[in-house]
Amino acid sequence: MTELALEEFDIVIIGAGPAGTTAAWHLAESGLKIALLDKKSFPRDKVCGDALSGNAIFELKRLEEKGLNLSFFEEAVKAYPVDGLSFFSPKGHRLDLFILDEQNVLEGKLKNPGYVSKRLDFDHMLVSPLRNSGNIAVIENCEVKQINFERDNVEVVCTDRKISTQLLISADGANSILARKLWREKIDRRHYSSGLRQYFRNVRFDGEKQLIELHFIPEILPGYFWIFPMGEGLANVGIGMLSSEIEKRSINLKAVLKDIIERHPKLSLRFEEAEALESPKGFGLPLGSRKSKVSGDRFLLVGDAASLIDPFTGEGIGYAMTSGRLAAQYVLSKWGDQDFHDNQAYDKMLWGKIGGEIQTAYRIQRLLRFPRVFDWVVHRANSNPKIWKLINRMVWNPTERKGLYSPLFYLKFFRKS
Ligand SMILES: Cc1cc2nc3c(=O)[nH]c(=O)nc-3n(C[C@H](O)[C@H](O)[C@H](O)COP(=O)(O)OP(=O)(O)OC[C@H]3O[C@@H](n4cnc5c(N)ncnc54)[C@H](O)[C@@H]3O)c2cc1C
Repeated sequence: MTELALEEFDIVIIGAGPAGTTAAWHLAESGLKIALLDKKSFPRDKVCGDALSGNAIFELKRLEEKGLNLSFFEEAVKAYPVDGLSFFSPKGHRLDLFILDEQNVLEGKLKNPGYVSKRLDFDHMLVSPLRNSGNIAVIENCEVKQINFERDNVEVVCTDRKISTQLLISADGANSILARKLWREKIDRRHYSSGLRQYFRNVRFDGEKQLIELHFIPEILPGYFWIFPMGEGLANVGIGMLSSEIEKRSINLKAVLKDIIERHPKLSLRFEEAEALESPKGFGLPLGSRKSKVSGDRFLLVGDAASLIDPFTGEGIGYAMTSGRLAAQYVLSKWGDQDFHDNQAYDKMLWGKIGGEIQTAYRIQRLLRFPRVFDWVVHRANSNPKIWKLINRMVWNPTERKGLYSPLFYLKFFRKS
């Protein structure tokens, strides 16, 4: 067998999803020699609900400042604009939440509070301009099989390449080779969800506003069934549930999804003329509810590899992008002055930024053990505009969301009743 030639890069990023590409975008002007590797070639599919909300929109604006062209968002077939979201409580009460004009500070090419965009298109939009970037080599069809940590470098071995680097950014998602090797050997199912996605055509939608729908059906708590509109009669439909509950209650998620679509008293009516465009596809969601270590000697973890998914909503694209940006900022602040043996400052930076929001989401997820509270909150919000406004602000503003777990919130809640 011929020995592979050793290539040298300053930084290797494994995985060109939202986390890896965002890190690359923020490092693009650094002059550092960067390899962005992915086992697939783009455009490629990724099992996901495809919903882009607050944090993802914020990060996209940061990427626009770095030169990303967002005109993609003006084509509804690529990124379908949504006005907000609908929660359906366990008893089926509906709560519509959408950004009020006074809160609407969105401008430029991202005018809506959210979008639904197939990952096939969205991830391709993020990666394709990087192919022409001077200092970034986008290397597709390169599956990393082995990572060897040496004293002064890291060796990354793909099927037909061997690369030496100073620093590794691991952005290879829920099945990250490095995270598995280090501390995800055995998944802690209390902090992990399983999800299924199935694209449909001709799902029935009512109402004027385009809203993403989260149905908190009692059998799948803490988890939900979703219908996300994609325009032209298309919808991303799916289900996500905490893995420990799936195991404890011996749930067959595919059977539950089929059952809801075919037999749920209200939802099945929406699927009477619908046509499934694929069989349900599954993937894991490593949740941020257990604070993981996100760095070590010569490496940083970002996105799903670092377990950063919101434990209540299952959103991970925004935090993947935030971690990619923060990892890049951390690297730039250290490059040239220090080595990368101890990177705990990155852990501090990342958890300092998003840890509070994720913990609040975890508390809300745990509140779902009391479905009657959820029903009651939805009922109060629908019958009292002041309470609706209060909850609406909390949904769109993560800082205000923290209040949901404070006694003051309930005091306001009762006063406004
Ligand atoms: C069913 C489901 C629904 C979801 N719905 C939503 C939603 O609506 N909104 C939302 O915000 N989040 C959602 N998420 C979460 C979201 O998909 C992830 O948080 C997000 O994709 C994380 O981005 P990432 O860049 O870290 O990883 P990924 O997007 O998984 O990208 C990782 C990349 O690494 C590559 N890779 C993997 N292994 C290797 C290897 N060994 N060598 C080289 N390359 C490799 C992969 O090909 C891939 O391109 C959902 C997840 C699931 C499973």
